[in-house]
Amino acid sequence: MDVFGSSGVRGVALSELTPAYALRIAQAAGSVFAEDSDRVAVGRDTRTTGQLFVDAVTSGLASVGCDVDRVGIVPTPALQAYCEQENIPGVMVTASHNPPEYNGIKLCGTDGVELTRDRLERVESNIDDTPERAVWNESGASRHVDTVARRYREQLLDAIDRERIAAADLTVAIDPGNGAGALTSPELFTDIGCTVKTINAQPDGTFPGRNPEPVRENLDDLGRLVRASDADLGIAHDGDADRAIFFDERGEFIEGDAALAALTAAELDAGDTVVSAVNTSQRLVDVVEDVGAELHLTPIGSTYITTAIRELRDDGVPVPIAGEGNGGIIFPDYRLARDGAYTAARFCELLTDRPASEVVAPYGGYHNVRHNIHYERAAQREAMVEAIEEAASDADAEVDDTDGYRLEYGDAWLLARPSGTEPVVRVYAEARDRDRAEELAEAMADAVEAARDAR
Ligand code: MG
Repeated sequence: MDVFGSSGVRGVALSELTPAYALRIAQAAGSVFAEDSDRVAVGRDTRTTGQLFVDAVTSGLASVGCDVDRVGIVPTPALQAYCEQENIPGVMVTASHNPPEYNGIKLCGTDGVELTRDRLERVESNIDDTPERAVWNESGASRHVDTVARRYREQLLDAIDRERIAAADLTVAIDPGNGAGALTSPELFTDIGCTVKTINAQPDGTFPGRNPEPVRENLDDLGRLVRASDADLGIAHDGDADRAIFFDERGEFIEGDAALAALTAAELDAGDTVVSAVNTSQRLVDVVEDVGAELHLTPIGSTYITTAIRELRDDGVPVPIAGEGNGGIIFPDYRLARDGAYTAARFCELLTDRPASEVVAPYGGYHNVRHNIHYERAAQREAMVEAIEEAASDADAEVDDTDGYRLEYGDAWLLARPSGTEPVVRVYAEARDRDRAEELAEAMADAVEAARDAR
């Protein structure tokens, strides 16, 4: 799985990810898609190189005989909803939370769900083969479809407890970060019956307001807006709006892990299984244990999570909620896809009898530390991974190497792994005791940095 990584194809547009390569991927995907459908939906987020890649992808699909519905700028979950409604596969041109210069490609099937690892591998193995191009008079046609965002909002409105949220008379401050969610979330929450305040709500692929990644350091303005507008909740999305991150009514950032734990506690019954990734928080571990449910851990990346949910559900295991602490949450009974707006609406349902700060209060008191250690060359990456391996084998901890190295210390855990999408090695640690988390993360980060600098 070299091409699709843990969450699709990503790279710096035009240098790492070229239009020619996007066209090849589309041809390879088109021949796998052709087994189910001769029509494919193509959407994109707001990135400045988005249209260019949509054109390349459309050309690639049409050249192998697929008709194309160009659905324009929409959140990834809106494209997925359209694919499910129309029973056609889809291609999303997005680099999700990556910086503006990046772009990427995600694929979904006729069920609106990300392709399974097996099918992605088949697409991948097609990429280097000569494509089976259609004869000249059987090439695909393309048309514009501009109803996807509206249909997405309508379906979502039907799926949530709209009256309950409206009765709570909530004010929500929304920061779509100039991404695709700008076209759907403000209108959606107005329709739900909330008073909506916005920031960075004009679609703009240069992302002038903030970096598309919805992490605390990029969201100061949203915190200020929550306080200034006396909002009950702040909602931030990433570039393709499949994630939601929250601020409480005091304008305080809510850790993604705490929001996931609160949503999970509300959703989970004994005997259920929750799927999350190996960087999952102790908060989720504690919620699952309290309820008497099971926790299933996968490598990091939404593809692994959706694949695991599918397998568990096929075996009859109930999985009412899944996701990661980065705001990417899945409610499989609604759709087997991450959905920032749906997640935010479900969080609003928790605010009908108490404020956000109280909803997440039981999940406070944990301290997360993260280090991102950048590298430039493959040799450095290799040395950094060796250093992690060595530190893991010397540590007085239980080691899980599902994806990177998760070290369980009992009172704390640490994860060290190279990113699947960026030239970065990430080190996370979590403990109830802040010093303990910092100490563990720093020791690992120092070892990794020293290994990098030695190459
Ligand atoms: Mg995303």
